[in-house]
Amino acid sequence: MSNLPSEPEFEQAYKELTSTLENSTLFEKYPEYKTALKVVSIPERVIQFRVVWETDKGEVQVNRGYRVQFNSALGPYKGGLRFHPTVNLSILKFLGFEQIFKNALTGLNIGGGKGGSDFDPKGKSDNEIRKFCVSFMRELSKHIGADTDVPAGDIGVGGREIGYLFGAYKAEKNRWEGILTGKGGNWGGSLIRPEATGFGLIYYVNHMIAFAGAGSFKGKTVAISGSGNVAQYAALKAIELGATVVSLSDSKGALLATADSPITPADISEIATLKLKRQALDTLKTKHKYVDGVRPWTHVKVDIALPCATQNEVSKEEAEALVASGAKFIAEGSNMGCTQGAIDIFEHHRVSNAGKSIWYAPGKAANAGGVAVSGLEMAQNSARLSWTSEEVDEKLKGIMEAAFKNGLETAKKFVPSKEGEFPSLVAGSNIAGFVKVAAAMH
Ligand code: GLU
Repeated sequence: MSNLPSEPEFEQAYKELTSTLENSTLFEKYPEYKTALKVVSIPERVIQFRVVWETDKGEVQVNRGYRVQFNSALGPYKGGLRFHPTVNLSILKFLGFEQIFKNALTGLNIGGGKGGSDFDPKGKSDNEIRKFCVSFMRELSKHIGADTDVPAGDIGVGGREIGYLFGAYKAEKNRWEGILTGKGGNWGGSLIRPEATGFGLIYYVNHMIAFAGAGSFKGKTVAISGSGNVAQYAALKAIELGATVVSLSDSKGALLATADSPITPADISEIATLKLKRQALDTLKTKHKYVDGVRPWTHVKVDIALPCATQNEVSKEEAEALVASGAKFIAEGSNMGCTQGAIDIFEHHRVSNAGKSIWYAPGKAANAGGVAVSGLEMAQNSARLSWTSEEVDEKLKGIMEAAFKNGLETAKKFVPSKEGEFPSLVAGSNIAGFVKVAAAMH
């Protein structure tokens, strides 16, 4: 699995996938895929490099840069870049590993990869961010290409950073090429790409709600964590569909609203401005409660919980609290948002006819909308075309529906279930994504 002394996040993601495959009938039916599991667990290539840049005061700084080119069986490596001080090879390997199967679930021909740096964008000037991006791309440009590897954004990398990176690539190589997704609308980006992860998450959960016979988002209360791109658009779409959003959060604490005075679209546009300036959410405490040092999960009573911040942001205890408070659906907008302990609690309560039942959807299915529209951006770049918002949104809806049904049907086929249980979306999505990649590798 790993040849380093410890890669906790990667090992967690690997074990989560393998345990669901091993507890299914997959290897009985397809013993040859056991070898594929061993093969897929090792990245095809890991690139590590040094990024030297200068602060506005002229001080020389150095950071680590990475690109994990995990698997190209289905297409060019595809996956975001994360700029965050916690970034290391274990985190990027877990993200790249998840990305392989997520990308397979989109039904598009994209392989899996991930990259980034331990550079901390917080507190940096616009000019410093630009200088870092230019230095980072100076090396990364040697390893990417429209048919080789197409990075995008992730935590700490949004439209502005993609712009600096893209400009740096173009200057370095002297050619326009669709080597990044999440670009601006008038220089090759796809409409709906900024919204796609959040919107896709809500479309996916809508299918869960409908399958469970529980209506729609209308009239439901929703807790969301995070306040970046994914959280903002998930909240906006949930509100548009008639739900009440009662929380968001940032790295310092949680913004807690009430059903009588919920989070509004105006709050979200204020948050979007704050985030661009990398300011904290507590500015909104005149309107909503802001509690330092907590996550929303033990402070809310909701129908739906959507972790949209970062990995391992729901503990076993928080999962127990969500179940006890009567939450019915949980779906990850973040990658590996739930700890294994939390997933075990949710999976244990997957009984549709019991009082305290809950249905969990993993990020690799529920948040696949972002990378799916990235795949659509690649298609538009290759065809030198731009589709309308309506066209992209329709395709996104179709992809999320297919990802949901694929996970559901695959679970029914390979995972023995008890009377009255919802099919396991975690097992079904893992198996469906894995089988597609394993078959391609064969
Ligand atoms: N970072 C996003 C993810 O985790 C998007 C990746 C992409 O668009 O390539 O899926």
